[in-house]
Amino acid sequence: MKPATVLGVPIAPVDLDEAVEWITRLMAAGGHHQVVTVNPEFLVAARYRPDFGAVLRRAALATADGVGVVLAARLQGTPLRGRVTGTELVLALARRAATEGWRLFLLGAAPGVAERAAEALAREVGGVRIVGTFAGSPRPEDEATILARLGSAQPDLLFVAYGAPAQELWLARNLARTTAVVGIGVGGAFDFLAGVKPRAPRLLQRLGLEWLYRLWREPWRARRMLALPAFVALILRGILARRLLGRSYTGEVD
Ligand code: UDP
Repeated sequence: MKPATVLGVPIAPVDLDEAVEWITRLMAAGGHHQVVTVNPEFLVAARYRPDFGAVLRRAALATADGVGVVLAARLQGTPLRGRVTGTELVLALARRAATEGWRLFLLGAAPGVAERAAEALAREVGGVRIVGTFAGSPRPEDEATILARLGSAQPDLLFVAYGAPAQELWLARNLARTTAVVGIGVGGAFDFLAGVKPRAPRLLQRLGLEWLYRLWREPWRARRMLALPAFVALILRGILARRLLGRSYTGEVD
């Protein structure tokens, strides 16, 4: 499957089931692999944060979390299969974990939220082994405490909810210092699972309007969305450049 390169980041053309299969293969391979669920704000931020861009490009699997990434890929003529969000991955991977015997750890979100998300997952998925939860923080001074907790919990699969780019950078720095084979930044997934925040109604999700629902619930997101016009401009510039210069233009940071 050929990835769709969106602003220099290769996004896998997978649906949720295929993403779970892919991650299952990574788990079987061993070592340490980072998975990223990409939205347009990530791709704009990556242009100003080369370290974040490098993490996105190096990821073992990058899925399209935001509808903007799906639309951009379609406009470029390299369509994806749709969105694969962090929240859906957490639930689907918890199901797979229950059959494979993987040990899960939920790191991040506000104090108590990861714990409640774990309880919700355990209710939803019989037999899932959640070996730890911890809020911690993405600050470097908290790393030692977090690594100590992960060291005693010995997870195989690590979900991190510190928001982007903190969660991706945290995993890039620390995943190899843990027992976890796969690490995924999952944004607001624990908030949704714990019921702290409602997920958008399915109809809005299907219409590609989950972002609008989240903006309505949390108007502070408007600031973050200022990245969207830049995203559209960069995508259109890329398409134009490819038309003029041929296929060689990939949208890499210039
Ligand atoms: N978060 C955190 N520590 C921080 C910053 C954020 O634990 O220093 C958590 C926050 O509580 C939330 C998650 O990170 O659970 C980020 O969620 P957000 O909705 O911003 O992510 P998105 O889904 O938009 O990527």
